[in-house]
Amino acid sequence: MRGRQCPGSLYLLKTHPEFRSSPSAAGQNLFRQGHRVGKLAWNLFPDGLDLSPANFSDLHAWAARTEDSLKTSSVNFYEAAFLKNGMFCAADILHKENDSYSIYEVKSSTSLYEHYIEDAAVQYFILKHCGISLKNISIIYINREYQRGQTLDLKKLFRIESVLNEAESIQGEINNEMAFLQNMLETGKKPEFKIGPHCMSPRECDFKNYCWKDIPSPSVFEIAGMNYQERFALYDNGIINYSDFNDDALNQLTPSQKIQIVSGRSRKDYIQTNSLQEFINELQYPLHFLDFECMMQPVPEIIGAKPYQHIPFQYSLHIIASPDSSAAHKEFLADETTPDPRHEWILNLLDDINENGKILAYNASYETMILRMIADAFPELKRRIETLLPRFTDLALPFRKKYIYKPEMKGSFSIKNVLPAIFPDLKGYEHLNIADGLSAMNAFLGLREDIKNPSNPAVRKDLLEYCRMDTLAMVKILGYIQKILKNEKIPSERISNSESE
Ligand code: SF4
Repeated sequence: MRGRQCPGSLYLLKTHPEFRSSPSAAGQNLFRQGHRVGKLAWNLFPDGLDLSPANFSDLHAWAARTEDSLKTSSVNFYEAAFLKNGMFCAADILHKENDSYSIYEVKSSTSLYEHYIEDAAVQYFILKHCGISLKNISIIYINREYQRGQTLDLKKLFRIESVLNEAESIQGEINNEMAFLQNMLETGKKPEFKIGPHCMSPRECDFKNYCWKDIPSPSVFEIAGMNYQERFALYDNGIINYSDFNDDALNQLTPSQKIQIVSGRSRKDYIQTNSLQEFINELQYPLHFLDFECMMQPVPEIIGAKPYQHIPFQYSLHIIASPDSSAAHKEFLADETTPDPRHEWILNLLDDINENGKILAYNASYETMILRMIADAFPELKRRIETLLPRFTDLALPFRKKYIYKPEMKGSFSIKNVLPAIFPDLKGYEHLNIADGLSAMNAFLGLREDIKNPSNPAVRKDLLEYCRMDTLAMVKILGYIQKILKNEKIPSERISNSESE
């Protein structure tokens, strides 16, 4: 599958594994999640033999054990491995019926992607070469419509879809590719390869740091609102740096993209004072700066929840009562032992928010979406929750619409990029143990899984610090906009969570 994405990636893995990047925390988490979901799906085919080896790098021993096990009376096998002519695969679930087999690949996603079918087709190819009589090959994935009841219903949680016909239809293609890749590895000859959209699809290649090392920053690959095909169309025409854009190329861009290029070239800030002033005019005190943290689980724990449903467990709220006031802070972090944290979360939030005044959130559509979901889940609170919705203002809007743009933002309007661009000396997210929403979710899920872990109080403190930093950053960003409009010099600021606002 690596060689299908890019022969160069397979070649580099065999010849220069030292150039490979370590998996990111997000990648590792996805792997762990996939592993857990895979094991849960074993229960659809109970009482099987687990063939997972003690040593995953000894493929011969793994395949030999599988071969022996298939001779037993068992009908279900987990992690069955097959090795032939240098080709290896392991099937998540193998089910035996008379003398033929069906294999099942388990995915923790809610969609059946094209590369899952290609993966299954490669498995089909290898099993056929091993002389296995294959009756069917299917993908097991998560049913996004499943709603959890008192007990988990695996037959409803998982969808099983045969991809036999699709896998068979690309066997000729797989055969040619396998021959090409085997020849490449046997001869040791470096294949021709260059960077392209395939570096990101279906997965981001772990040799990207190596192959992309000569791409400058900024470059066409940082232009906002462009997909990789469009970026590579420019790159293939020799447009890499912002200075490579001639008038014709510039005129193909959207107004927002032009601002990014022109500001990046001149290294000058771009400010639309009128639009900013209109944005500020809409604000009414008391100003609330609100941020939520949510967890998502492929296998819902909470009764009534669906797979990957956003379940809020934390918020941070800064409130500025009047133009002359400093910010007061309120926060909530659910107890990890609470089965469903949502009810306590929303009751605290409704109590903490004043009856009047604007509520600022960064990318506010996320916060309003969560509140609508909570209103549906708790009809008795629906009216109170719905009164909050029209009060929201999106603090990301001036940056998304480029009312303010600084070259240091590199085309991004994410708060994690905007904050250091505005306050370069700021002690911001980088000193935090938890510094992004995904890490916050994983930390809270970790607390729930291991409620007796002695390090839990420290993790709770990290969670509180992270969420608080998000709303404190919003307070600082709004202050920056207000100072621009008052034509005040912007001081280089340092903020930290220990600073009193
Ligand atoms: S980074 Fe791109 S070009 Fe380099 S090995 Fe990976 S997929 Fe191939």
